Amino acid sequence: MNKLIENNKYLQFTKLNEYNNLIHFYTKKPFSLTYEEYQEDKEKFLKSLNTISPIKIKTCILANQAHTTNIAKVTLDNLNDDFLNTDGLITNLKDVCLLTKTADCQAILLYDSVNKVIGNIHSGWKGTLNKIIMNAINIMTNDYHSKPEDIIVCICPSILKCCFEVDYEVVESFKNNFSNIDEDIYLGEIKDNKQKYYIDTVNINKKVLLSLGLKEENIITSDLCTKCQHDLYHSYRYDKTEGRNIAAIILK
Ligand SMILES: [Zn+2]
Repeated sequence: MNKLIENNKYLQFTKLNEYNNLIHFYTKKPFSLTYEEYQEDKEKFLKSLNTISPIKIKTCILANQAHTTNIAKVTLDNLNDDFLNTDGLITNLKDVCLLTKTADCQAILLYDSVNKVIGNIHSGWKGTLNKIIMNAINIMTNDYHSKPEDIIVCICPSILKCCFEVDYEVVESFKNNFSNIDEDIYLGEIKDNKQKYYIDTVNINKKVLLSLGLKEENIITSDLCTKCQHDLYHSYRYDKTEGRNIAAIILK
């Protein structure tokens, strides 16, 4: 069975579509929304989001995303707050759409079908380096009583090892934070007398998830590279624009 379902507006994960009480999607070009648009006029932002959403969304939350490992628990009390300095959202509230915006970074969708908890995490290379995904799983298990084996994780299209070229400084940071990632680092070209490298940040997040007790079959990667597929997805490294892909998840 194909692990992805697509139309010309968005992509979905087959595994998450098995649940009738859950809606999710990851938008395609030319659709784009930014945090600035969200901040300026939430009604207008929502209207734009609803031009693409398979269901009518009444409430949505987008954090400002600052490459931190901070995750907010969305509750009835903070629903209307600004989620500043935040890169992940978790909730068990129904009808609240959690959003992330990305162009090459990983948007990671989380779902515990037993306790009915959802999450949407922005994991750029800094978030991956500092293990934001571990924070997310810890919050779900500690505060929402999720069991690791019940959590489904879907990693949306992002820049993959084919295109995520970095300098040694980045490789060194990863080697300092992880002990088991030699196979996730590849030698690249020498440019301007500098040796370049490629890092498989998706596989690194997958290893973190496996170490926390998640089941391999519950970790689904899109295997789509935003830079290679820049005709379909916004890629910051390719486009160098403010265009962003939107990942959305909502409990009904
Ligand atoms: Zn690529």
